[in-house]
Amino acid sequence: MTHDDHDHEEHDGYEHGHGDHPYGHDHDHDHAHDPHEGVTADDPRPRARALQSLLVEKGLVSTDAIDEAITAYEQEIGPLNGARVVARAWTDEAFRERLLEDADDAIAEFDFDVGVQHVEVKENSPQRHNAVVCTLCSCYPWSLLGLPPTWYKTPAYRSRMVREPRAVLSEFGVELDDDTEVQVWDSSSEIRYMVLPQRPPGTEGMDEEELREVVTRDAMIGVERLEGVSDA
Ligand code: FE
Repeated sequence: MTHDDHDHEEHDGYEHGHGDHPYGHDHDHDHAHDPHEGVTADDPRPRARALQSLLVEKGLVSTDAIDEAITAYEQEIGPLNGARVVARAWTDEAFRERLLEDADDAIAEFDFDVGVQHVEVKENSPQRHNAVVCTLCSCYPWSLLGLPPTWYKTPAYRSRMVREPRAVLSEFGVELDDDTEVQVWDSSSEIRYMVLPQRPPGTEGMDEEELREVVTRDAMIGVERLEGVSDA
């Protein structure tokens, strides 16, 4: 593995240099102790573009192949892993408890690699709605959700989600009752959060495999509430 590969895997690309997040954290961790600090100062995008151009030019890969790989990672591999975790939590109470207690350990029973970052799962309830952001760049649970959507990386989402989460959620179509508490989790290079959505009504008869189909990426970021499933 080359150094560039290493950089790419360890970090979420784009902007870097997690110093202090401008907003509060719900947990204690000190970005100053990030072992990757300093290694991440360079923007990897020009290198990635140059590498892609070279590979295409040499006929080693096609742009179609790259697009296909990205699509696969985005639409199939990533969110499916998260959906499998959610579906199991909905159907296996002991797993759900382990997941909320120690997500890294609980997820280890799946056949995919959760990655080097510490994962925490936050459970939605009628009383509390959780949502995930990275205020400084685009930290995201890649192994569970695939590639982050473009909006997740925008300055508007990153700043507004912590400042006015209800307004942002409303724009995503999530209307919360006034007495539902909103908790926004600021991801970092060390901790990646995933939301455990509420199991929607109408899914009582579904098994774990069927439930996977109900779970969406956005629900696991916390910007969507899963609608009830009606018998059609
Ligand atoms: Fe980040």
